[in-house]
Amino acid sequence: MSGPLKLTGISASAGYAEGPLFYLEPVAARYARKATAADETAALEAAIGVAAARLAGLMETTNEEAAGILEFQVAMLEDDALTGPAFAAIDAGQPADMAWRQALDAEIAGYETSDQDYFRARAADMRDIRDQVLRALTEDGEVVAPAGAIFYGEDIAPTRFLETDWSSGGGIALKAGSAASHVAMLARSRGVPMVVGLGASPAHLAGIALLDAEHGGIVLSPSKAEIEAFRRSSSSFAARRDQAETYLARPAATKAGTAVRVQVNIADPSDVDGIDISTCDGVGLMRTEFLFGKTLPDEETQYLAYRKVLEWAGDKPVTIRTVDAGGDKPVPGFTVEEGNPFLGLRGIRLSLARLEVFRVQIRALLRAAMYGNLKVMFPMIAVMDEYQRATALFAEEQAGLSARGVASKMPPLGIMVEVPSVAIAPEAFSAIAFFSIGSNDLTQYVMAAARDNASVAHLNSVRHPAVLRLIASVAAFGQANKIPVSLCGDAGGDPASIPALLEAGLRDLSVVPAQLAMAKAAIADVSV
Ligand code: PEP
Ligand code: MG
Repeated sequence: MSGPLKLTGISASAGYAEGPLFYLEPVAARYARKATAADETAALEAAIGVAAARLAGLMETTNEEAAGILEFQVAMLEDDALTGPAFAAIDAGQPADMAWRQALDAEIAGYETSDQDYFRARAADMRDIRDQVLRALTEDGEVVAPAGAIFYGEDIAPTRFLETDWSSGGGIALKAGSAASHVAMLARSRGVPMVVGLGASPAHLAGIALLDAEHGGIVLSPSKAEIEAFRRSSSSFAARRDQAETYLARPAATKAGTAVRVQVNIADPSDVDGIDISTCDGVGLMRTEFLFGKTLPDEETQYLAYRKVLEWAGDKPVTIRTVDAGGDKPVPGFTVEEGNPFLGLRGIRLSLARLEVFRVQIRALLRAAMYGNLKVMFPMIAVMDEYQRATALFAEEQAGLSARGVASKMPPLGIMVEVPSVAIAPEAFSAIAFFSIGSNDLTQYVMAAARDNASVAHLNSVRHPAVLRLIASVAAFGQANKIPVSLCGDAGGDPASIPALLEAGLRDLSVVPAQLAMAKAAIADVSV
């Protein structure tokens, strides 16, 4: 390769890494056929057992977040619906390795071709399961990566991530991949730099690579000047990160002393376990789609989940969002298959169409409200009628609970501002308790650029004047009408977007816990 080669993708976990490129190769699978179908069946059973035991071993050495991901894999390995077709193919005369590969590939293809990011992201877990069993069948070992390597390939298996020692650096650069994948979540919480969506490379890449996962790019065969510039950016990032830690304990304020509230976004009650409540101003967004994982949760399960977070927060506010299923967050058994799910039956639209599911969540929220400072908001509101129907349901359910002598409390009810109709004409909502701007969706709808499509990522920018102008007008509307306005989209935790958001008039941001320190540090650097 002559001259530097640069590839651009999307940052899935910010940071910098410099190291040898290491190819993530598919499993070779040199399998020795057995004499009979019964032997093939036994071989596959044994290999599934080996893979499950390996997962169980890994689970013991990881934290709760990683264990949850591995549990999903174990559950899949134990699922007859997944393994059944492979055993049936063996009975029909196929060798175990081919039967397993074909059965899993068929399943994986279904995930990969989904137009929903959530399912595409789960394809990586399915490939991981496929390869672990194939390796157990063939006794193919994984090639060990050199210390500090930058893993490069289509995608990386969650187990590979968990088995890698990241203490001497290294990073991940993926041609495909997704910022919503399990590995991306793990990478963010462990501070491992990761870039996704680099696309096919024009040449075979080799040698030392510079991974800039702050901006989303990788450089191969860099020039001396590029190496120097990269190292400067890398040390500046490290210094900013270290420096940021010192901001964590203090309330956030700009350089001029303007106070800014910084809350956290969570998705699962266990997310609060690692957060010191004194470092944030409460929970600005608790997504509840996660609770609606494989099955629809009953009232008690939801009530306990909400209550746990409320008790953790004490008197600080906890804003729980009613289920925002659909779009990039499908829920089996709840969401519907649609041609264009981002513009379909998602969020409040789906909840209002499935009242038997919505009412359960409403009751759980009304009961949990007794245990803290709860606020509830509705996702994807487009017109006032949706808000009125949702609030009427809260009133009805509260009446029902009191008639049965069940303690409950009506929380303030607000809305997400993420559909352009609300941001453009907020006057219909002048009697609302609060607004929370969902910049992820607002940006994708204003720019007509999907939030999970790497090929239009350059258009999906919260800093485009059209998006910022809308945010500023919502902030001004809130101020004029004494309606609190916060922002809970990912932009709130992005140091590069924070100055523009404060400039637009926002003083209340909600960010993912891993970005809390950096967000506070970025706020302190703004002169507003
Ligand atoms: C948003 O759209 O900005 C938001 C916070 O909601 P979600 O990312 O869950 O759609
Ligand atoms: Mg949204």
